[in-house]
Amino acid sequence: MWSLRAWRRQHTLARHPVSSAQWDAVVRQLPILDGLDAAEQQRLRERAVLFLQHKHLSPLPGLELDAHACLLLAVQAELPLLHLAELNWYQGFHEIVLYPDDFVSPQRHRDASGVVHEWDGEHSGEAWLQGPVILAWPGVQASGQWDGYNLVIHELAHKLDMLNGDANGLPPLHNSMHVEDWAKTMQSAFDQLNAELDATPKADTAIDPYAAENPAEFFAVTSEYFFSAPDLLAEAFPAVYAQLTLFYRQDPLARLQQLQARNPTYPTKAKDSPLATNG
Ligand SMILES: [Zn+2]
Repeated sequence: MWSLRAWRRQHTLARHPVSSAQWDAVVRQLPILDGLDAAEQQRLRERAVLFLQHKHLSPLPGLELDAHACLLLAVQAELPLLHLAELNWYQGFHEIVLYPDDFVSPQRHRDASGVVHEWDGEHSGEAWLQGPVILAWPGVQASGQWDGYNLVIHELAHKLDMLNGDANGLPPLHNSMHVEDWAKTMQSAFDQLNAELDATPKADTAIDPYAAENPAEFFAVTSEYFFSAPDLLAEAFPAVYAQLTLFYRQDPLARLQQLQARNPTYPTKAKDSPLATNG
């Protein structure tokens, strides 16, 4: 059936083509895309173009973004949505503000005894309720490896969480999912991580201890691991991994394991890889 929306989409894609060379350069820089099949890559490519048409990237003075940089950001933003229906998951905000470096903003933390501490802290990203996403460019550049760090996915996971109100670690779940299962699973893993840190504050936890801050950070950090260190997350919190598989409708662990089956040292960078010299 002819639809205005589909026509607009095609029109936008036709007006903003991404060349194979451009696309390959982005894929090379983002190992977390390895193992996506041709159809997934094509979908990601189109959605990245649409993302850049719908969102306004605002680099602050000191930062200039070329087409490659914009695409690098958009692709990582769209990876979590790759298998979700083409709804407007990133609705309610239009702007992504990009700082040339980490920025200082007021921070708040309630400690175990209930005391709230406030201070100005360095941050590499923020997602404001009904407001922009803010990212420090070095954090975007450091994202995309299989290392458990992904600033773009972290901040946009907060936006998914905020789709149904405050950031509380509960994004709108699909009809096939159960809120009780999600809540029980997330809470129990969150409690487990907090118990470990209460017992040993400097514990070498399986995932970033920042996840223990509150349920919203737990969802953002575990989303980050889901796409960039699924092996670590699935080992530490298998039930959380399973819930995120239901939510994102992807299985990055299976993808990583297939890559490792083909190359046992994956993702160790090969000597001839351009990534090895990129720093
Ligand atoms: Zn966060």
